[in-house]
Amino acid sequence: MNSNQGVDHLMLDQLKQNNRTWAEGKLAVDPGFFKRLVGQQRPEYLWIGCSDSRVPANEIVGLDPGEMFVHRNVANLAPPQDANYLSVLQFAVDVLKVKHVLVVGHYGCGGIAAAVDGERRGLVDHWLHPIREVAHDHKDELAAYTDDRERLNRLCELNVIRQVRNVASDVFVQDAWARGQPLAVHGWVYSLSSGLITDLNVTVTGGPVSTG
Ligand code: ZN
Repeated sequence: MNSNQGVDHLMLDQLKQNNRTWAEGKLAVDPGFFKRLVGQQRPEYLWIGCSDSRVPANEIVGLDPGEMFVHRNVANLAPPQDANYLSVLQFAVDVLKVKHVLVVGHYGCGGIAAAVDGERRGLVDHWLHPIREVAHDHKDELAAYTDDRERLNRLCELNVIRQVRNVASDVFVQDAWARGQPLAVHGWVYSLSSGLITDLNVTVTGGPVSTG
């Protein structure tokens, strides 16, 4: 028996066709587009965002391939012990020399809700642990919300602010600032319902950062 029974390969054929159409469209307006990208990437931005399929990084800020280095995980975390995130951060800062790190959360984040709903899901509960710490640190502020969705949306914002602090206090970032490299770390939240980004105005551009 074929274990792939029931898998719809026509769906993938559609993606491949979409890809050809997309590549042809790029070449139609700029025949050298892909040749240039093969030579080098020079992104000025590192995006740290959620894996949520409704938050496609390049698309919502109108950037082309080559213009943004992207790291995505569940609930846009920047955990100082995560080798994947740290590798991306160091490469972006030390090699690509990006000018801006954008930590981008989004309202209605399922990861944020799952972190604090008390249900057990397995490994992801460990991944989401830093969000429970943020919720604990701000429990009085969060308890003041009578509307559950508003409370979770505030937790989305507080999580972004904490992750901005994690990035800004990282040794790679601190070392970049110490040698005078221009680099700013920003905290944004994206709205699924409007398609718009809100700047939380927590930008850090240098100096020591409290991790508290
Ligand atoms: Zn999310």
